Amino acid sequence: MSYELPPLPYPYDALAPTIDELTMRIHHGKHHRAYVANLNAAMEDAEWATRPLEELLADLTLVPDDKRTTIRNNGGGHLNHMMFWEVMTPDGGGFPEGELDDAIETAFGTVDELRHQLSAAGVARFGSGWAWLVHDGEGLAVTSTPNQDSPIMHGQTPLLGIDVWEHAYYLKYQSRRADYLEAWWHVVDWAKVAERYAAATRSAPRLARASA
Ligand code: MN
Repeated sequence: MSYELPPLPYPYDALAPTIDELTMRIHHGKHHRAYVANLNAAMEDAEWATRPLEELLADLTLVPDDKRTTIRNNGGGHLNHMMFWEVMTPDGGGFPEGELDDAIETAFGTVDELRHQLSAAGVARFGSGWAWLVHDGEGLAVTSTPNQDSPIMHGQTPLLGIDVWEHAYYLKYQSRRADYLEAWWHVVDWAKVAERYAAATRSAPRLARASA
């Protein structure tokens, strides 16, 4: 059983100047690749590893004690980054539409207020982690997690996450995390976030399973 590093859905330089090519190459080719390799090594041929990653992260007691931290960090890292590449696009920015826009207005009033709260959550996260827009079962909410923890661990469905590890921005923005978070909205793919919202509120979830 193993997971694979998916190719980026766009070239490494496609998100520049918001995110520079070298940052994308290292982030995807080194960091995400390492999460996948560590995840696969920890799963070996374990029976529990046939369960989807989402189920394991939702209930880490399914994972033996000696593998739990590795799965939390690297399973979370793999899922978080698969989402991250997906919710960015070179043609990003603008505003959400349709039911997602309605849900944002209900929860936050305006899209600008959501952006403000998400960026603030990213700035406030001490050390490494993520800022999230989640569906919590009732509606939309902004949260943040440390390290590679996933909102799935708290029963929430991640719709959009912004990586605030230094590896995500330091080459271009150095210590200016707030500038990275402000610029990030130029590459957000609202259509993909809307797809994830529709999946979270209607259809059966797409789960990440290791292939034989
Ligand atoms: Mn990362």
